[in-house]
Amino acid sequence: MTAYPFCVLLIGSFLIGSVIGAYFCTADYRINTDKALITAKCICPECGHTLLLTDQIPVISWLLLKGRCRYCGNPISVRYPLTEGSFMLFYPVCFAIFHNTPWLYLLLWYVFVTAGLILKCHGHIRSLIKGISIMTVFHLAISALYLVLDTAVRYSAGL
Ligand SMILES: [Zn+2]
Repeated sequence: MTAYPFCVLLIGSFLIGSVIGAYFCTADYRINTDKALITAKCICPECGHTLLLTDQIPVISWLLLKGRCRYCGNPISVRYPLTEGSFMLFYPVCFAIFHNTPWLYLLLWYVFVTAGLILKCHGHIRSLIKGISIMTVFHLAISALYLVLDTAVRYSAGL
């Protein structure tokens, strides 16, 4: 693969990893507190204040807020930016290794996220099954988008 499609798809992987990492943190919290996985508002677990979109940018929001809630000042666990950051790294690294076999790359995403959810579930089996179902649909949608992007970028590069 030449530099052009490789860089575009690498950046795409980084962005998708950021989105999935952010949703993973949200899903982890909601599964363990029995909250709705999609429709629940993003709130501070300490003060219950609804978070703005600008408070939810992976890693960047935590850094800008210096690890504290904008509304109550309580500390926000460092595990959030660490989890989001690991997704931001995992996706592009997987892409760099497996970019010639997109199906393997997509399967790795799915296994990584599902295994993460199972490890972080503390006995909330019903919520976990819902979480895995939602993540499966989410992955199928992202996989379809990724394959369209991959095909478009490879086609435009004449590969
Ligand atoms: Zn708060």
